[in-house]
Amino acid sequence: AKRNPHQPEFIQAVSEVVASIWPFIERHPRYLQHGLLERLVEPERLVQFRVSWVDDQGQVQVNRGYRIQHSSAIGPFKGGMRFHPSVDLSVLKFLAFEQTFKNALTTLPMGGGKGGSDFDPKGKSEGEVMRFCQALMLELYRHLGANTDVPAGDIGVGGREVSYMAGMMKKLTNSAECVFTGKGLSFGGSLIRPEATGYGLLYFVEAMLAHRGQSLAGMTVSVSGSGNVAQYAIEKAMALGAKVVTASDSGGTVYDPDGFTPEKLARLMELKNEQRKRVADYAHELGLEFFTGRTPWHLPAQVALPCATQNELDESDAASLIANGVQLVAEGANMPSSAAAIQAFHQARVLFAPGKAANAGGVATSGLEMSQNAQRLSWTREEVDARLKGIMTSIHGTCVRYGQVERGQDGDHHVNYESGANIAGFVKVADAMLAQGVC
Ligand code: NDP
Repeated sequence: AKRNPHQPEFIQAVSEVVASIWPFIERHPRYLQHGLLERLVEPERLVQFRVSWVDDQGQVQVNRGYRIQHSSAIGPFKGGMRFHPSVDLSVLKFLAFEQTFKNALTTLPMGGGKGGSDFDPKGKSEGEVMRFCQALMLELYRHLGANTDVPAGDIGVGGREVSYMAGMMKKLTNSAECVFTGKGLSFGGSLIRPEATGYGLLYFVEAMLAHRGQSLAGMTVSVSGSGNVAQYAIEKAMALGAKVVTASDSGGTVYDPDGFTPEKLARLMELKNEQRKRVADYAHELGLEFFTGRTPWHLPAQVALPCATQNELDESDAASLIANGVQLVAEGANMPSSAAAIQAFHQARVLFAPGKAANAGGVATSGLEMSQNAQRLSWTREEVDARLKGIMTSIHGTCVRYGQVERGQDGDHHVNYESGANIAGFVKVADAMLAQGVC
């Protein structure tokens, strides 16, 4: 904490990982050598820069841009860009740290990074968003490269923003090499990339339930968020026979006891993606109950999928979910559950999947986009989807292998997916760092 003052999210993420891998490290003391842990919690490089741009009124606006290049131990830095007023060093350092382990879990050769800006895309015109993205690239371009650092999207950065940034990158470098993933289909994007995080989350949930001889069909699911991850999580959950009863944004939660249908989801997507409206507008239009300013966790569900943002599910939310009979919680967002909430899930023996495992489908498919670009090929939807499913199943297997530590009261092996994911990701990155010497 002394080395990183005023960085609560970063300290939270590091503390959670170190606490969960500590028993493993004690059994394998070689990981305490060569300053490995000290190096692992220090980003390799951190860039902060001014972004000046001109708004529609002709006024100069100034934002902060960042890129955290956390670890290149197993491949080029890789991780999304986030545009949100809450973006600061602490948030991006936690995300880059988590990304390093997540990317290691995918089995693809990608290091960990993250970046973004405190720019708020809400309420900005198309022209303002484009000018901001271009202004940001005027500095960021010099830190990127297909073998150096390959960003993607995150909160506030979807296909539109990635495309503006990729376009400016090409202009500035006179090179069409792949330095962004999540691009448009006509210029190197991959089929299934927009769907990948949400679909991957559900493939992971399916694998967790199958491991216990259960299936998602007929279960009630609550989802938070209504952005990229949430939308495709809802779509795949429905396709697997679940009833999805909630969606949310920072304004509040819509509750639909009858569950989403493909038609209702299409309307939500149109409102959010094209008209850039709010979940409250959706609830109002469909005559559904709306809980202003609240998250979905007080409502009954067997499966909870937090897909909005960090620390959106605290200890009291965990208590409500448990009291209402939740059986499984899987994180579509990064670090949405507080440490106390995760503890409560473990104690109640609720199956809990941390984001770095459960939402790894997005970056995995970004890795597949990089492979397609390198080969100058485009794979079919079916091929990418099958590879995504294969990767999520393999991450599940890895988590089970490292996380199957105790025998439950009912005689089952209870899987601690949090420890499993942290240990597996750590081992891969740490072994690579040890092999490469002190650098
Ligand atoms: P989007 O910008 O598409 O959607 C974000 C959603 O979360 C919106 O509904 C937004 O509501 C809500 N939200 C954001 N910040 C807050 C906040 N402070 N309080 C309440 N609600 C909030 O982002 P994504 O769907 O891409 O990302 C969601 C999460 O998933 C993030 O944690 C991201 O890091 C993670 N993730 C994303 C991946 C991807 O491929 N996109 C990959 C892996 C993880 P509002 O519109 O009101 O702000």
